Amino acid sequence: MSKVQVALGIAVLLAGVILMTSVSNLYLIALAAGFLLFLFCMAMFIKPQFFVKFILKTTKNNVLLSFDDGPDPVNTPLVLDILKKHNAKAMFFLIGKKVKGNETLIERMHAEGHLLGSHSYSHDPMIGLWNRSRTTLDIGDGHGALQHVIPEAGNWYRPPFGVTNPNIAFALKKCGLQAVGWTVRSYDTVKKDPEKLLESLKRKIKGSDIVLLHDTQPHTVSILEPLILELKRRNLTSKAELN
Ligand SMILES: [Zn+2]
Repeated sequence: MSKVQVALGIAVLLAGVILMTSVSNLYLIALAAGFLLFLFCMAMFIKPQFFVKFILKTTKNNVLLSFDDGPDPVNTPLVLDILKKHNAKAMFFLIGKKVKGNETLIERMHAEGHLLGSHSYSHDPMIGLWNRSRTTLDIGDGHGALQHVIPEAGNWYRPPFGVTNPNIAFALKKCGLQAVGWTVRSYDTVKKDPEKLLESLKRKIKGSDIVLLHDTQPHTVSILEPLILELKRRNLTSKAELN
């Protein structure tokens, strides 16, 4: 029995008990709202792994730098140049609809030893509300686009916005994909000040962390070199390894 089924069972049981004991409707509504809020939180946060099991760490004394939302024809080559300069390896989660036209860039990522995973086809903000077949098609197409360029790419997937639900869990199983999460979220799509971004990452990062970054952001490119140097100073490696 899945965790969702258990949670639903408990909710139905509680509702039954409340009805039998004739507690006011208001209390019942509050309970239902609380349960829905709980499910929403479980869908939005990856750490509880409520709907989907995630890989949540890299190897000891290593920090996995992971980049979502590319490939980006302007910023991704700059990210690759910096990684190459410092012999650092990273992981890229590619959006399926961005693959066409960027095949050479993706081949470069692979040739230079970085890990590749998919990040859905559409990256649609409403993906968490889609039905099972539409969700499965989008996730399958996203990974298919990556494999069309790099057939030997792994079976890794990162959910857009970190959203999971039973339909996404079904799609991953159906497509044979393993979800990869993160332990440090940079918020680099909203934190546009490079200095503050770098400082907050320096504060948070430790060995075995997976860091969520975006290779679509110019300020992320600008802090990458000092970040890698800081990791080296702390004797932490930057290898493309999952644990
Ligand atoms: Zn994304």
